[in-house]
Amino acid sequence: MARIVMKFGGTSMAGIERIRHVASLVKREVEAGNQAAVVVSAMAGETDRLIQFCREASSLYDPREYDVVVASGEQVTSGLLAITLQGMGLNARSYMGWQLPIRTSGHATGLIEGIDAQVLERVFDEGGIAVIPGFQGVTEHGDVTTLGRGGSDTSAVALAAAVKADRCDIYTDVDGVYTTDPRIVPRARKLPAVTYEEMLELASVGAKVLQTRSVGLAMREKVPIRVLSSFEDRPGTWVVGDDRIGDFDMERQLITGIAYDKNEARVTLTAVPHKAASVAAVFAPLADAGINVDMIVQSVPREGQESDLTFTVPTAALPQSRAILEERQGAIGFAELLSDVNVVKVSAVGVGMRSNAGIAAQMFEALAGRGIQILAISTSEIKVSVLIPEEYTELAVRVLHTAYGLDAEEAE
Ligand code: ADP
Ligand code: ASP
Ligand code: MG
Repeated sequence: MARIVMKFGGTSMAGIERIRHVASLVKREVEAGNQAAVVVSAMAGETDRLIQFCREASSLYDPREYDVVVASGEQVTSGLLAITLQGMGLNARSYMGWQLPIRTSGHATGLIEGIDAQVLERVFDEGGIAVIPGFQGVTEHGDVTTLGRGGSDTSAVALAAAVKADRCDIYTDVDGVYTTDPRIVPRARKLPAVTYEEMLELASVGAKVLQTRSVGLAMREKVPIRVLSSFEDRPGTWVVGDDRIGDFDMERQLITGIAYDKNEARVTLTAVPHKAASVAAVFAPLADAGINVDMIVQSVPREGQESDLTFTVPTAALPQSRAILEERQGAIGFAELLSDVNVVKVSAVGVGMRSNAGIAAQMFEALAGRGIQILAISTSEIKVSVLIPEEYTELAVRVLHTAYGLDAEEAE
């Protein structure tokens, strides 16, 4: 007997017919003699719809009330799945975040501080199935919170850790983790397994198949994850530690995958005085405002001259970033503030980079071969990222996928 947390994403929960199918997958697991707890997302599109309502109500909405509104999508689907399971003769009940409780701090992008496993242990003991809304938690004051977009993955992994589940199955609309987004590159290949480290890096540079935080948590808590399709009965992809990756009979490639992120905006400050304090004067107020600066490029000036400073911020933080810097234009002393939201960050990730020079050069050559201009570059131990004009997203991802030898023989 295994103990499993099963998570179903928005597409899998979109409508009663699909919820019925999800219920049949849960039933199959339970009938095989396993213990299952289920985490569900809101129906596809629902969270976007609810966020839009908040924006229409007021552009400067209160995060506490935002959470009250957007957490409701998951409440609906968890009740509907419990009703459906009960209709199949199973002993299922929904438990909201506050009923367990899933304790979190902060609104809109709450962090999970702890989950009480008591209620769930009792449900397991009684042979029941707990259905839990993903994405939501509760503060110490009893206020409803949400965990940030894609947060149901994190709810599922956190629950799996809390009840010491044997694994966390993430059911979604693709049948595993691919070498890149299979919706952009039909020749993307499904990976039988990836390490936490690689998946963490892929997710953090835009592969939205798993929320980044869920992977970090799984790595810390050693929760094996399986990503699989709720529509097709196929093996899926395991996300596991380095120690277990060898169990999967697979050829390890230098590059694991390519990801892209359109959620970054470029900011360029021209003619920044070349003084030791200038760079700090730019980034300190952004950091104070909680704005995450990612790629940074500074031109090296000739003696006594000024330099240009280019960096990226999340697109949603661009207006605030502009306001902060414009207010300090005199103090910092730059000439102009230019910004562009029509950019994309494309990244290649792979542990093979540690021991192989030339991966970055290969990237620049492949992009240059197609005339794609690079606006900024950043690297880490197992990743190379470039910022390019957004219109080249698909071309760049395809070209790099081919250049690194990742294409499947046949489109699947
Ligand atoms: P869910 O609603 O089930 O949480 P998401 O939309 O959040 O699903 O994540 C699944 C999507 O992630 C897929 O439809 C796919 O387009 C996208 N995706 C991006 N990169 C990858 C990748 N490397 N492998 C698989 N899917 C990917
Ligand atoms: N419904 C939430 C979202 O769309 C959480 C999730 O699906 O993971 O972001
Ligand atoms: Mg998701």
